[in-house]
Amino acid sequence: MSEPLPNPTFDAAALDDGKRLFTRQCTFIRGVLALDKMPDAALPEVAFAGRSNVGKSSLINTLTSHGGLARVSDTPGRTQEINFFELGNRLMLADLPGYGYAAAPKEKVVAWTDVIKLYLKGRPTLRRALVLVDARHGLKKVDEDILRLMDDSAVNYQVILTKADKVKPAALAAQRDALAEALAKHVAAHPDILVTSSVTGAGMAEVRAALSELARPE
Ligand code: GDP
Repeated sequence: MSEPLPNPTFDAAALDDGKRLFTRQCTFIRGVLALDKMPDAALPEVAFAGRSNVGKSSLINTLTSHGGLARVSDTPGRTQEINFFELGNRLMLADLPGYGYAAAPKEKVVAWTDVIKLYLKGRPTLRRALVLVDARHGLKKVDEDILRLMDDSAVNYQVILTKADKVKPAALAAQRDALAEALAKHVAAHPDILVTSSVTGAGMAEVRAALSELARPE
């Protein structure tokens, strides 16, 4: 049994609803390159954002207990699509393309930023963006840029630390506290940071509970 991670506490009802939400079937809807192809904005939606290789696909797969839903890859920066998944008629998950891939050509970065800006501004059902940050590295400049973009778009967001299994408990707590201090300067940031490991599964119950609070009620 691994040590519990420094996560916010949720009451039993929220944990239970989170668990139920994620036992529902998760269905891939489509991947889109252009915003006019997006699925109907009917369900409440959450978007996953993060630097390439931060562990976004692994997190989505672990949350949904679905090994092959989001593609885990050793070649970062490959996909530019926004991939939509529906979770049992209660919540839409939007997997945004990873950013900050060093080898990405400049015009691709510009195209990416444009799509994301339009997405963040133009999706009326978007309840929260989840910004994934590697627990070993903390906020990088590209992450800061994204947070600013979200502040400017008036999109609420919450940070999820990934790969917590790679960091010793004391360093992890310090990393989280430093991050909380940095986030306090951002108007649209949720004050609670979620801490996760897709390898051990730690923190998944808390993420599920947080997302169930945003989902359409049962
Ligand atoms: P993405 O590019 O953000 O979708 O990242 P991936 O999910 O493809 O993961 C990138 C790499 O990090 C892969 O080699 C994963 O196996 C690894 N990885 C992802 N999550 C974790 C985690 O929680 N712990 C550890 N140790 N490795 C992870």
